[in-house]
Order: sequence, then C-alpha cells, then structure tokens
Amino acid sequence: MVEEGWTCPLRIIVLERKEEKMLSKTTLVDAMVSGHSHLREPREITEPLVRYLIEGGVDTILPMPNTDKGLTDTEKTMDYVKVVEGCVPPGDGPVKIIPCMMLTEKTYVHELQEAARVGIRDVKVYPLNRTTKSQNGVRHYGRLIRLVKVCAELGIRTHWHFEHPWMLFDNRDAEYMCLPIADMMLNETDAVIFWEHGSDARCIPFWKDLSKSRRFVVTLSAHHLATNEDATFGDVGATCKPPIKTRRDQRDLVLLVDENNPWVIAGPDDAAHPIGVKYVAGTRCACGAYTGPFLIALYAHALSHLFSTVEGISVFNNFVSRYPRKWFGLAEASRQVKLIHEQFKIPPIYNVGPWIVGPFWAGQTIDYTIG
Ligand SMILES: [Zn+2]
Repeated sequence: MVEEGWTCPLRIIVLERKEEKMLSKTTLVDAMVSGHSHLREPREITEPLVRYLIEGGVDTILPMPNTDKGLTDTEKTMDYVKVVEGCVPPGDGPVKIIPCMMLTEKTYVHELQEAARVGIRDVKVYPLNRTTKSQNGVRHYGRLIRLVKVCAELGIRTHWHFEHPWMLFDNRDAEYMCLPIADMMLNETDAVIFWEHGSDARCIPFWKDLSKSRRFVVTLSAHHLATNEDATFGDVGATCKPPIKTRRDQRDLVLLVDENNPWVIAGPDDAAHPIGVKYVAGTRCACGAYTGPFLIALYAHALSHLFSTVEGISVFNNFVSRYPRKWFGLAEASRQVKLIHEQFKIPPIYNVGPWIVGPFWAGQTIDYTIG
C-alpha cells in the first residue's frame, strides 16, 4: 500500500531478461542509503569499515554517534564526520556522509541550535545501558519532550534506539514497551521520529497507527529480515541488540516490506566488533552483527521473492534507497549496484585495520552477490 502523495518513478534496468519466474540473473538496483552504520574509531578502523560499506552497495552513510565518548556536541560530531569523509576512497564516486549528534537528557537547547546552524539535521537517542556504549543514554523520556520540540522547530530528525532502559523489562519485551514513548513523542511534539531496527512484530499494528502522523519511520536491518532466534540459537556472530526474534516476527517484518510503505525503510545497523569482544571467555557478548561488506546482497537474500517481478524490484529499490532519500531530503542515488543471483559464501573473518572481525553468518552461503 502506498500512501497518497508519494510518487516513486520507476527506473529499473533489468539485464538478460528471461521468461520464467526469475526476471534475470543480474539486476541493477539503486545504491543504498545507510541511515545507521557504526564506523568506530580511530581512523585506522573507520577507513576499512567505510570502504567495505561502499563495496556493500552504499552511497550515503549516517554514522552512529555512540563512539567511545559519544558525539554529544556539535564540535565532536563535525570532527568525526570530517574523519569519516576523509576515509572515502578516491574514485568511488560521491559518497554522502550525514552528521548525527547524540541527544541526551543533558543536551542544552543552545547545543541543538548550534547543531542546526552547522547543518546537523539528525540526532540519536540511546536507552541508558541497554546496548553498546549507551552510558550517555536516556532513562527519563519525559525530560526529553522539551528538547524534541526544539528539534522539530529546528528541522532536526530524531532517531531512537527503542529498547526500554527500565531493566525490569525482559530483553524480549524491551522494544515493545517503547510504543507509548513513541506515541507520546509524536503527540507532544512535531518531530520526525525514526524507530530504528524494528524487530518485534507485535509492534506492527501500532507502527501503522503511528505512521498516520506522517512523521514516523521504521527502519529494518538485513539480519532481522534474514533470520530468526531459533536459526541463530547459539550463534555468537548473530548476537545483537535488539535481539533477533521469532520466525513469526521475521515473517511479519518481511510482509511489512512487501506492503511498500514509504515509512518502512532499510536501516542496516552494521556493527563491527573485534573478534575478542564478540567471542569472549568468561563473560557474554551482546554487541552487534557485522554485515557491511555484503549489505545489499544480504537484503536481497532476505527479500529474494521480490526479484521475481518488476514491481517487486521497485519495492526493493524503494525500501533500500528511494524512500530513505525522501526522508533525508536527498537527490537520487549517485550510482547503481549490480546484484547477481549467485551464491556467495560469507568469509569467516574480515580484516578491519588492527581488528579481526567475525561477520554475521560467517561461513554461510547467501543467494545473492554484488557484481
Ligand atoms: Zn546500532
């Protein structure tokens, strides 16, 4: 279902057209927008992560602000953006980096004004201690209303890691329990709310209701669309926040993409961790899934049924590229990516500067590769 007022011109090139069900072995799709990537620090780690992500089919990156100390002010945010921009390899075509500052209970109004003045149009809210490097996270959401109102006045979009920081809520329910917070923020402010990495399909009817505001967006990661908690049981490489949920959740999230809603967009949450942190002895990992180098291929694998019709390919392009560009106010994709319907075995490790990173689904085979 497409809401009125949204027009998405088809610009799909299909090569080697065959009859039968599969349109072709090779499909050109628009380069992705990653509105959620973890590019880490220092530069020797950021640089390969940026390169892998571009190889993974991306031409626009919004780096997450949960660096070691957190990008809690304008200066830190813009300094980091400069580092990331400096990591884009020459000759890879234009790659846009979208600055994103952290919004906390301690953020000053004048800091938001300064952020808007230098061109920061996105802020991120973390829940206190619910995920990686969320020590600057929020515990008392009511205190944010005043600041989120200011964001709306300044044209700043707000992105939320919606897992409730009240630790009495089980991990499994922490996302679901954030529905009243999203509802409150939409009702009390005029801000645009991005619900990042939706994973709990119980939220879907509520998200549909919230989307009537036309200020509400849900992002979905490739790994939450590709698998479920049974299939990944015991797989440290698939341990992430929010946790991957049941087969029914996975199915309903995929069906939500099929509906071609402009408020449902890809949000990769590619999160590299050195192997020693992921596979620790004597403690537990709850970090993230690294999908950057094969990102668009993993989305294609999870949504492979879309590639059997021209309309389906259009839905894919809308989800990974065209709808996100509308929300971020961006021009069309700077390039296209060749997706080949061919098996790709995910390597056991990636070298990321001094880090060795075990990717999501290491050693497993997916049905698409990037040409
Ligand atoms: Zn993340």
